[in-house]
Amino acid sequence: MQQTLSIIKPDAVKKNVVGKILDRFESNGLRIAATKKIQLSRADAEAFYAVHKERPFFGELVEFMISGPVVVSVLEGENAVAKNRELMGATDPKEAAPGTIRADFAESIDANAVHGSDSLENAAIEIAFFFARREIL
Ligand code: GDP
Repeated sequence: MQQTLSIIKPDAVKKNVVGKILDRFESNGLRIAATKKIQLSRADAEAFYAVHKERPFFGELVEFMISGPVVVSVLEGENAVAKNRELMGATDPKEAAPGTIRADFAESIDANAVHGSDSLENAAIEIAFFFARREIL
């Protein structure tokens, strides 16, 4: 059993498809152990994406992530990290497999609907960034 962090990004929240995306998780063997809608501050977004701070798109990524509320969730299940990445699809929605969240709900490589932890180690760090232990049930 693993836990992973999901973020439904501002583009998908604005499109009003939060429920449809959470349903993809629940319908594919993942359980929502925690979830909340929050507005990230600039400091939050810069800290969360610190690993990307040398990338040319860092500024755009931070601006996008603070452009509106996001829904952060802890997903739990067998192979949750890989399962969530599989359900999300490729970073660029144009390359995402049919039926994946990004193929169905995302427009571009920056406004790409969802984030998912890329390893078990990062999942633990990212979950602790957003949730207290008592919020994960
Ligand atoms: P992910 O793990 O599939 O989310 O992809 P990465 O870790 O490579 O990138 C993190 C996030 O940065 C992506 O989800 C995008 O929102 C954003 N991103 C990646 N590549 C680009 C790019 O070329 N331009 C812009 N503006 N954003 C990008």
